[in-house]
Amino acid sequence: MTAEQLVQYLSWATYITIFVIVALKAVRNPRRANIDIALFFSLPMLIVIIALLAPPTGSLLSYLTVILLLALPYMLIRLVDDFADVPKWLLYTSEVLLALIVVGTVALGSKQPDWFVTVELFYLIVFLAYGVLAFVQQSQRSSGVTRRRMRSAAAGSIALCLVFVFSGLARAAPPFAGLWVTLSDLASLASGISYFLGFTPPELLRRAWQEPELRAFLGRAASLPRLPDTQAIVAEMESGAAASLGAPHASVGMWSEARQALSFGADDTQVDVTPTAMSAVGRAFLNQRPVFTSDAARDNPAVAEAIRKYGATALLAAPITAGGRKLGVLTVYAPQAPIFAEDDLALVQLLADQAAVILESRALIDEATHVRAQEEVTRLKEDFLSAAAHDLRTPLTTLVAQTQLLERRAVRSPEAPADLAGIQKVEKEAQRLKTLVLELLDATRTEQGRLVGTREEVDLTAVAQETCARNGTDLHPCEVEAEGPVIGCYDSIRLHQLVENLVENAVKYSPEAGVVCVKVWREKDRNCLSVTDPGIGIPPEDLPHIFERFHRGTNVNDRRFMGMGLGLFICKGIVEQHGGRIWVDSVQGHGSTFHVVLPIEEGEIDANVT
Ligand code: ADP
Repeated sequence: MTAEQLVQYLSWATYITIFVIVALKAVRNPRRANIDIALFFSLPMLIVIIALLAPPTGSLLSYLTVILLLALPYMLIRLVDDFADVPKWLLYTSEVLLALIVVGTVALGSKQPDWFVTVELFYLIVFLAYGVLAFVQQSQRSSGVTRRRMRSAAAGSIALCLVFVFSGLARAAPPFAGLWVTLSDLASLASGISYFLGFTPPELLRRAWQEPELRAFLGRAASLPRLPDTQAIVAEMESGAAASLGAPHASVGMWSEARQALSFGADDTQVDVTPTAMSAVGRAFLNQRPVFTSDAARDNPAVAEAIRKYGATALLAAPITAGGRKLGVLTVYAPQAPIFAEDDLALVQLLADQAAVILESRALIDEATHVRAQEEVTRLKEDFLSAAAHDLRTPLTTLVAQTQLLERRAVRSPEAPADLAGIQKVEKEAQRLKTLVLELLDATRTEQGRLVGTREEVDLTAVAQETCARNGTDLHPCEVEAEGPVIGCYDSIRLHQLVENLVENAVKYSPEAGVVCVKVWREKDRNCLSVTDPGIGIPPEDLPHIFERFHRGTNVNDRRFMGMGLGLFICKGIVEQHGGRIWVDSVQGHGSTFHVVLPIEEGEIDANVT
């Protein structure tokens, strides 16, 4: 047997085998695409049988061979229509032309005029070229396994074109006819195999073609539960499922117990679907098994319009279930049914199971975060209560002891003059208690962001001067450095409280004598204030936490410097709720400077200038 014959027999055997496979598939599952594929492969198979029966020259069989060959472009157009969309007029034109050519071939026999041969050639070239372009375009539009299948179909179409080119050359150049015929047989072999792999890839190859996208999705799956919200997770799962199945769209419907519906889409475009046995999605959810439908609109005519709008002709749906809890449904859909294969049901269920794991992990993370948040709230409450109880106890103890003393004295000698010093001590402790209680209340308001009330024109220089006058002592003179009024629109009471807190701290944390300096000035679009003291300073490790609630420097202790660690927290709240910024520069053992910057609202700048 010569090499040419080997190629020919191999090509014939391949076509017959492929036909048997696709014919069996069409019988098992008589969908339009399967029937079209079987019809397409029946043409070369019949040509092979005719060639085996008798050499097709001049006989009726030779006309039949020509007709079968000419039917190939038409069947190709039908297959393009199964996988993409062919305009109806083009489909009809190809049918009419094929019918005319068949009739003409039979009627004219071997006496075909030139114009008829031209029509034949035109039909061949135009429809074969259309087939190639359509599959190339479809492969560019699709992704994953579908892209690979469409590339294979495009390669098959190119090889089919070559079959006709080489056959033509064999006739045109008889000296090399043997070579052209062998090349034509090789091209036909390549075409048959490529079409077979493109139209009905064996399960093993299909899996291999799906693997890169599936692997990429599963690789990402572990990190999905940590995405910021469920919507982002669902979007990732949808794109992963669509890519793995080579389909253009996928959608996750989350089950809402309250609405008794599956919710598809994001917040603004959310669509609620009540699961019924009518729809594939409903059946998948109710029966808890994967479902495939080649025509979702026909399945559920009530919502046919909406289904078509989303381009969902063929649809795969699988339930997302975790530990018996129905979480939702994963749907993957495509405008053409042959994009999917029956064994894709197993894959879509696998992806739905993966989605269940991801959603469950997310729920667990949410639960853990919730528990942690609750623990934090409990801890803060405990901190708050113990700090409050601790700080309130000292003035209360003094208060109780002092009033008991006054009472005993009054009982013992009712006519004795009032103990003014004792009463003043009671008042001082009561004031201290009041300050502590107010601080606790303000800390709560700071948390709630409702510290700042009505705003009015406030002169920061005046505030600094009043505060300094109240807090300055011989040991700690308080000086104000300012060139004039510095006016802004602020909550006056809170501004007083802010400066008071900073100056009080400056005095309190400067046990040695020293000057406290308050500077007030205006920059282009903001007012600035700083309070500098020559005190104990703040250790570097405390600096990042000094404005946190209840935080006290590691260099201070309750006996020497009384306090709750709330003052700076409230100061920060006041400044930030005015839209400003507060920070500190400090060197332990050498003193601190607290800086405050507050915005000036438009119009205020003019007031400052005057
Ligand atoms: P309190 O003074 O009641 O402790 P604050 O919130 O006002 O609470 O201050 C928090 C901590 O910041 C103080 O405990 C102290 O360690 C440190 N601190 C605040 N102001 C000064 C300052 N001027 N000099 C040094 N340390 C300071």
